[in-house]
Amino acid sequence: MSSTAGQVIKCKAAVAWEAGKPLVIEEVEVAPPQKMEVRLKILFTSLCHTDVYFWEAKAQDSVFPRILGHEAAGIVESIGEGVTELAPGDHVLPVFTGECGDCAHCKSEESNMCSLLRINTDRGVMINDKKPRFSINGKPIYHFVGTSTFSEYTVVHAGCVAKINPLAPLDKVCVLSCGISTGLGATLNVAKPKKGSSVAIFGLGAVGLAAAEGARLAGASRVIGVDLNPSRFEEAKRFGVTEFVNPKDHNKPVQEVIAEMTDGGVDRSVECTGNVDAMISAFECVHDGWGVAVLVGVPHKDAIFKTPPMNFLNERTLKGTFFGNYKPRSDLPSVVEMYMNKELEVEKFITHEVPFAEINKAFELMLKGEGLRCIIRME
Ligand code: NAD
Ligand code: ZN
Repeated sequence: MSSTAGQVIKCKAAVAWEAGKPLVIEEVEVAPPQKMEVRLKILFTSLCHTDVYFWEAKAQDSVFPRILGHEAAGIVESIGEGVTELAPGDHVLPVFTGECGDCAHCKSEESNMCSLLRINTDRGVMINDKKPRFSINGKPIYHFVGTSTFSEYTVVHAGCVAKINPLAPLDKVCVLSCGISTGLGATLNVAKPKKGSSVAIFGLGAVGLAAAEGARLAGASRVIGVDLNPSRFEEAKRFGVTEFVNPKDHNKPVQEVIAEMTDGGVDRSVECTGNVDAMISAFECVHDGWGVAVLVGVPHKDAIFKTPPMNFLNERTLKGTFFGNYKPRSDLPSVVEMYMNKELEVEKFITHEVPFAEINKAFELMLKGEGLRCIIRME
């Protein structure tokens, strides 16, 4: 039992006081974990585009003041009542979506959309008592997607915590708790390209490049990267992307360009942009008869997907996925093992690193479209 168990912990956290304003490092109070909760000491966290969306709060509603952050790695500090599968000292990855183990989704082999713990971007409180565990002088500070990892300590539902190999380097595998697993799983678990097939990847950020990595692991022979930002192309070569298309270079829709390149369309496509037009192109560029498109990007809340229904009748399939269809607690430890066995390279996704005090630099890099993942070191 750690000496802090059962006590309120005072620590540093980066608080988003209002939309679009730089985060402020504050001393916060973190209450002990309640029933089915654990308190984690976060050692490394990284920035994903979803944090930036909810911080900007342009297209989505957001709750403030809030502690953002959901891609991270840490160690269990203490556990609440009823927690049996985690113990203080365990090395863990917190995840923005969970696995209660009891609901119809958790019992289904096909779903990772847990009824109790699936992502909820509006909820800023813990499920047990509908209150946040963070405060500053008694004023509540709200949670984000149940993780709030931009804090030295955070409280998370035990169902949103994957216990991993204690030998895994946390400064590397932290990126597996969201973006990289999402892209990888979108290809390996959902698009499932066959050996020798062609795959188009829309959006060559970290998620898209992880999807490309999945295509490489699956043995795809052509991986066509599509992005509006040409600076992404050089980097993408290291992720097995073999050809590049910038929609801006063509005076016809990109789906037509891809159909011409591939004699009728790609076998699989994976969309990782969040842009609805890219989603439609990703669907319409797959081959009739067998093509499968998978949507991963988080769209504007008012976006509508429009396509002629004949595209479905002609035997194209459209799917979407959260977190690459991985069940966080059951499946994530094996993704960490893929890294430990050197099947999956994680280092090449990590392009920057900043100390916690400079967390706003990570936001600036993402807004400029520079680099892939920026690791934020908590100590
Ligand atoms: P990122 O910003 O690093 O990368 C997105 C890329 O898409 C950029 O390179 C951008 O230039 C490109 N792009 C934008 N519009 C485009 C268009 N119309 N055509 C072609 N390319 C275009 O973001 P990321 O961190 O890699 O995340 C990608 C998306 O995945 C985001 O929408 C994010 O919210 C989402 N996401 C989804 C899940 C999930 O479980 N479904 C999990 C994590 C992230
Ligand atoms: Zn469940």
